[in-house]
Amino acid sequence: MCGIVGYVGKKNATPVLMDGLRALEYRGYDSAGIYVAGRGALKRAGKVAVLADSLPDDFEGTLGMAHTRWATHGAPTEQNAHPHSDPTGAVWVVHNGIIENYADLKASFLAEGVTFKSETDTEVLACLIAKAYTDGVLLEDAVSDALAQVRGTYGLVVASSREPEKLVAARASSPVMLGIGDDEYFIASDATPILKHTRDVIYLDDGEIAILTPEGYEVRTHTRTKVEKPVETLEWDVEAAQKKGYEHFMLKEMMEIPEAIENTMRGRLLPGVGTVKLGGLESALPDLLSAKRIMLTGCGSASYAARVGELMIEEFAGLPVEVELGSELRYRRPTMDPKDTVLFAISQSGETLDTIEAIREAKRHGVRVYGVVNVVGSSIARETDAGVYNHAGPEISVASTKAVISQMTVLALIAILLGRANELSQTEGAALIKELERLPDLAREILEKREEIHELAKRYKDTENAFYLGRKFQCPIASEGAIKLKEISYIHAEGYAAGEMKHGPIALIEPSFLSVVLVPEDSMYEKSKSNIQEIRARGGRVLAVTTEGCEDDIRTLADDVIVIPKTHEAFLPILTTIPLQLFAYYVALERGLPIDMPRNLAKSVTVE
Ligand code: GLU
Repeated sequence: MCGIVGYVGKKNATPVLMDGLRALEYRGYDSAGIYVAGRGALKRAGKVAVLADSLPDDFEGTLGMAHTRWATHGAPTEQNAHPHSDPTGAVWVVHNGIIENYADLKASFLAEGVTFKSETDTEVLACLIAKAYTDGVLLEDAVSDALAQVRGTYGLVVASSREPEKLVAARASSPVMLGIGDDEYFIASDATPILKHTRDVIYLDDGEIAILTPEGYEVRTHTRTKVEKPVETLEWDVEAAQKKGYEHFMLKEMMEIPEAIENTMRGRLLPGVGTVKLGGLESALPDLLSAKRIMLTGCGSASYAARVGELMIEEFAGLPVEVELGSELRYRRPTMDPKDTVLFAISQSGETLDTIEAIREAKRHGVRVYGVVNVVGSSIARETDAGVYNHAGPEISVASTKAVISQMTVLALIAILLGRANELSQTEGAALIKELERLPDLAREILEKREEIHELAKRYKDTENAFYLGRKFQCPIASEGAIKLKEISYIHAEGYAAGEMKHGPIALIEPSFLSVVLVPEDSMYEKSKSNIQEIRARGGRVLAVTTEGCEDDIRTLADDVIVIPKTHEAFLPILTTIPLQLFAYYVALERGLPIDMPRNLAKSVTVE
């Protein structure tokens, strides 16, 4: 999920690769490594600068590859940093992505007596390639042979000591591009490391493999059919390339939502038996499945994801759930019974101090704690008994977008898992999984309509106050919509349970007061419609979010309507969040604010 750069040519590869790593730093990473033919590999945990400082002067050669890692399997340590090799050191690999079936493959290698140096999925791939790389076999054929045995996502580059003048690259769902220079060739996971050297690039497609030597390059399929690829001209400048051409990381990260949902679910759905498989919770399964009470904790957007999780678990598993903010849980009189209570702590960074302290407090009382964390090897990942990684990829913008959606997706998976141990039948579980599988495409549909939301944002950009209102599954999303608007547009916004309006807040309604009402077709549809009526009766402005089929109905009530696709009521929060994030983004854009780094805020809150 992070960065790759490769070089074959006549120059010294090392400075090209190190510059390339620096250009990739914006993606967020936790460790880095380099391989140069004839010199071997060097890797370090932490920043590229740490790697640069430890490079010996004679670490030179004309072919090499380098990597910034954003850990998915194993903590961000030196051992787990890439490149990885097979035990003989013949084959070296840098890899972005996840090898889903690595555990099975690793088990067979272990049974054959192979020893591993890291906890990564990537090292298994190196062993698999080396196994196919018998005498007389070419590296590219060994790579194709190995890749036929793996499931998952990869952008990878492979080098070998037996063919020191060759790099092989391959792609499945994780981007790889080639840079074509004068008698020199580059490989990278995005344009940033290449831009300085050439603007002529080739984008590899899934299922393609590229072979690069100082004499030239070839792209082919794994069945050895040559593919004629067009050479395209890069028109981006470096900054645009870092943001994939988007103006802000926040927009780029919202555009990655479909992919983040896919990556969160990848390899975890078992439609045949109507349940899910969460590898990280396997060891905890007996405890978890016998739990009688679930507690969820987090801060900010993670706490709203937790509230969606609460409703999902109640709905699918019929278990009592309690959500508490990390900053509050730690100070409460503990009433958790370690015999039947488990706590899930939710944090994108895994470093949120309030959440960490809540975990420590729960552990002091003997409660088992599981993490839902995006950053592998983070403090929460280490301090919890087990957990689920989001695999949403690095999130750089301070306002969380794809990560909070991924958190809700993980909680949906946990709810189904717990549900199957309780009240949920196999057919119900299978139907839910089918619905989950549709979500990435439905999210894409919403994102395609972003310009419509931009137009609405222009209309509402001068609003001074806003209520965000929703009921049941939409109630936490009202809070999520409001926090997003507050964070980046500095407009005063409150998320409320729509039914609470009449108990006080409605006193504020007057013509300049905006109410964003979440009114999708769900079990609360009629009730939420009545709330819109109440606001309109008092002259308030209403922007409604509804689902396909209800738009005509809602248009008669609201000033403006955003229409999104339909899905199961419990999964709708995953979709209704998207237009609210886009709305906040475009309002902030129209107000000319520093969206990725809003005032007074930090990405991971490591203070109390
Ligand atoms: N799954 C690999 C690992 O954990 C690759 C991570 C990445 O994409 O940076 O090492």
